[in-house]
Amino acid sequence: MLFRPTYAGGRAWPAVLSKAKPCFHAPHTDLAGELACHVQAFGCAGCATTQIRLRYDPDSARRAAPVLAYRYLKWPPGEEMMRNWRLDTKLHWLLIILFLLALATGYVTSRYLIPHQSKAPSPGPPQAAPEPTPAPAPGPVETPTMPPARAALGVIIDDAGGNAGLLKKFLELGVPLTISFLPEYRETPEQARLTAQAGKEVFLHLPMEPERPTLAQHYPGMILTSMSAAEIEALVRQHLERVPEAKGVNNHEGSRATSDPAVMRAVLTVLKEKGLPFVDSRTSPRSVAYKMAREMGILAGENEVFLDNEKVVEKIKGQLRLAARLALKRAERVSGAGNSLPGIIAIGHLHPATLEALSGMIGEIRQMGVTFVPATRLLK
Ligand SMILES: [Zn+2]
Repeated sequence: MLFRPTYAGGRAWPAVLSKAKPCFHAPHTDLAGELACHVQAFGCAGCATTQIRLRYDPDSARRAAPVLAYRYLKWPPGEEMMRNWRLDTKLHWLLIILFLLALATGYVTSRYLIPHQSKAPSPGPPQAAPEPTPAPAPGPVETPTMPPARAALGVIIDDAGGNAGLLKKFLELGVPLTISFLPEYRETPEQARLTAQAGKEVFLHLPMEPERPTLAQHYPGMILTSMSAAEIEALVRQHLERVPEAKGVNNHEGSRATSDPAVMRAVLTVLKEKGLPFVDSRTSPRSVAYKMAREMGILAGENEVFLDNEKVVEKIKGQLRLAARLALKRAERVSGAGNSLPGIIAIGHLHPATLEALSGMIGEIRQMGVTFVPATRLLK
């Protein structure tokens, strides 16, 4: 006999009964027939009667059960399986206990936290809570998932005025941006007007002399260090007339001109007179523009991240992430100062890669707790 008849446990019993059922119709030949023969070996009269005994003689069937189960169900294969079974049982109990614990925790939490919250408004009039109610209202779509903004990012898009189609796509981005227009483009006045109508902030992108002689140096209307103060002032006024919607000015190129105090003084004199702020694009580490503007009592800002020196979407996205992180850092350092969110200014250009990166990063930057603002919100 290959199989040792040891009673393994209650689980074999119903399995054997269900396996043995077809034996009524085909004893000896089918699976259940073989089962019945094994039962016979333990003292039963014959397959057919064995079936009857399986069904009517629990004692005989119980003795047969482990053999049948072992052979046809491979159960129980031995002590190991039994240990697993016992472990299973223990795990079930463990799960039940954990479930009960979770229930108890939930009960305790609701018991001690909910009354605590409901006690707070009770001293006052029960529904006089005007502050909490408007809080969820302002962000109609984003409130459920967006964290509250902790910092601000002012993105200036430079070199606008020459590509109306691309500008239109920037204007369709659902975030505040500052679009800075080069004065000499033929369509600049029209596009600046459309930009202001679209609710975006308009800047004059003042062309200023760069350090190295490049093609840009020959840009028409560029502020040159060789000009007199009067010439510079006249040129700045002339450029501003082409962009009357301008809420501020930042420099195009200008690594040489912004490092020249005499040039900057002339430029800033006009801005002070017009009540316009200056944002230093920081094309040179030697720029005196920001410091001088502050000294002259002009609102000023500085570019802290060039977004698209490399016109590669993934690189620009990386720069946007960097800008958002810097904004958050700034906010941590100066938290609680003033009523507007602290943050930084970053500069990109009217370029398809910048558009794609920006449009793809709006959600992520908001999720970081950084909100887009017009650059003029971040001036000092
Ligand atoms: Zn530029």
